[in-house]
Amino acid sequence: MNEKIVIKSGRVLDPASHLDEILDVAVIDGKISEIGKSLNAEDSKVINAEGLWVCPGFVDMHVHLREPGQEDRETIASGALSAVYGGFTAVCCMPNTDPAVDSVGAVRYIIERAKSAGFAKVYPIAAITQKSEGKSLTNMASLFEEGAVAFSDDGRTVMDALIMRRAMEYARGIYTNGISAPISLHSIDENLARGGQINEGKISAILGLAGIPSCAETIAIARDIALAELTHAKVHFAHVSTKDAVQLIREAKSKGISVTAEVTPHHLALTDSELIGYDTRFKINPPLRSEEDRAALCEGLKDGAIDAIATDHAPHTQIDKDLPFDSAPFGTIGLETAVPVTYTILVKSGILSPLKWVEALSLAPCTIFNLPGGKLKVGAQADITVVDPSADFFVKPDNFKSLSKNSCFIGKKYSAKPVFTFIEGKCFSLCL
Ligand SMILES: [Zn+2]
Repeated sequence: MNEKIVIKSGRVLDPASHLDEILDVAVIDGKISEIGKSLNAEDSKVINAEGLWVCPGFVDMHVHLREPGQEDRETIASGALSAVYGGFTAVCCMPNTDPAVDSVGAVRYIIERAKSAGFAKVYPIAAITQKSEGKSLTNMASLFEEGAVAFSDDGRTVMDALIMRRAMEYARGIYTNGISAPISLHSIDENLARGGQINEGKISAILGLAGIPSCAETIAIARDIALAELTHAKVHFAHVSTKDAVQLIREAKSKGISVTAEVTPHHLALTDSELIGYDTRFKINPPLRSEEDRAALCEGLKDGAIDAIATDHAPHTQIDKDLPFDSAPFGTIGLETAVPVTYTILVKSGILSPLKWVEALSLAPCTIFNLPGGKLKVGAQADITVVDPSADFFVKPDNFKSLSKNSCFIGKKYSAKPVFTFIEGKCFSLCL
């Protein structure tokens, strides 16, 4: 199509090259053709990015798109559109659909549906075990060859340590470009967490709700760190929520064990005190924890114990979330609020530099899952997120593109918002 776009005078933030400078970025035929000062914009579509931040496309390595099986909550197309409006150029979708993504056909289905939708890129994560039941392994090599980028039984924990060991050994033996297939782990001891509704602590005692203790997470993560050390697999911890887990991961990294971790915007921003009104929008797994945990998660991102920010976007219908607290499902949507929430909590507050924040949303997930993208460099696909750091962002359910509205951030006010998302040069203008 030969269309040339010049993104003019933005603050270009590229963590891979430590670039943080006011520059122009030119895009031709879906690729970045030039990055520099005062680029020639003749015969080009010009995007005035003065006052805006120009970043590598944000990548959410942990979303639930609900298709196949629960299309009333979200579809691959609606989730990929929600991603675009949240400033994400790519997402990795978890396999706990109905049926689970445990077959080559299911992997292919997701890739084809995402391609025909034409919004954010969607990379499927395949199940570790058949039906994610934790009993027998999937054919991991075939799933990976078909296009799965990682393995996970997210939503459930592989409770049998021998099966987990075997999964890590197989994953370690599957390579792309010399890098082993990653495993993303939902590490929560299911026996300790059984029946739990919210974080176990003062708030659960006040509300009379069964608690999920912190040690349900730390016990499972400690086991999986030991298995990562044994197998040398590439192990990634999903949605870390506790101070003690952050410390375990920090120590594992210092010993040279190949582990990485992500944290969600809601665990960075909110605590279990939100649950005082029994509002099921705050019923999330792992649960919102204490202020001490929340602060430790921010600190973990700052010192590198935690690598990435991922939303765990978990759509549910209003009917489901209106059930009595004990029966309502866990989860919050997150794609369209992640940028303002994490900018406000991490950057505006001075905890992270802009570059470090951008890294957690782009370069880090791409590195962990061995995905293309995450860098602004000449010749790379033009997956770019442009953020307005001075905008106000008021979270209103009517604005969501997601089919579901179960956001734990509704009614809250944050700063910054994504204003343009470019996917291989295709420009989505997000101003509502
Ligand atoms: Zn999970």
